[in-house]
Amino acid sequence: MVHTLPTLDYSFDALEPWIDTATMEIHYSKHHQAYIDNLNKALVDFPAEAEKPIEKLLSNLEAVPEKIRTAVRNHGGGHYNHSLFWKVMTGDTKLRIYEDKNLRIIEEINKIFGDMEKFQAQFSAAAMGRFGSGWAWLVVDGSGQLSVASTANQDTPLSEGKKPLFGLDVWEHAYYLKYQNRRKDYVDAWWNVVNWTEVERQYLTLSQPHLPQ
Ligand code: MN
Repeated sequence: MVHTLPTLDYSFDALEPWIDTATMEIHYSKHHQAYIDNLNKALVDFPAEAEKPIEKLLSNLEAVPEKIRTAVRNHGGGHYNHSLFWKVMTGDTKLRIYEDKNLRIIEEINKIFGDMEKFQAQFSAAAMGRFGSGWAWLVVDGSGQLSVASTANQDTPLSEGKKPLFGLDVWEHAYYLKYQNRRKDYVDAWWNVVNWTEVERQYLTLSQPHLPQ
């Protein structure tokens, strides 16, 4: 299996004014593509690993041959993380709104964090507290418990036995063209484009009795 860039469900300008067109185009077409190219290159002499879905490789990095483990961790992580990132954003205003829907994920967020505002504050703190490059996450653990997490570089919660519901890319390439050094403005703006309908769909899938591997 050759890994390929997933289809983007919206145009590069769909997330304006919060995420600018140029950033989207470069981020998707250049950065994400580079992770995929490097992942495919690493897997070329490892047909057994090349057949496995990326989630499976990242969920058990110890089982990946040492020669390509770092490449899978970095480039495979980059591929998986970005694929999820594009999916949990939307240009469709209706999908961004959760207030008019009865979403279980929102109910659970309120239960675990107090309310949406408190959750967003905790998530934003994780995004701001990540020194250098990395991601902030909302994750579900094996027992279905929600929590906020953060990883460095392209490390993914899958490698820690957790499934991310969504992640926010806080590498400078994700925001520098529009926000320069103002990561906080980018993090605050990002909440406007979250696809809560998709997050709910993912949460319901994960709330099944077993965690998919
Ligand atoms: Mn990125």
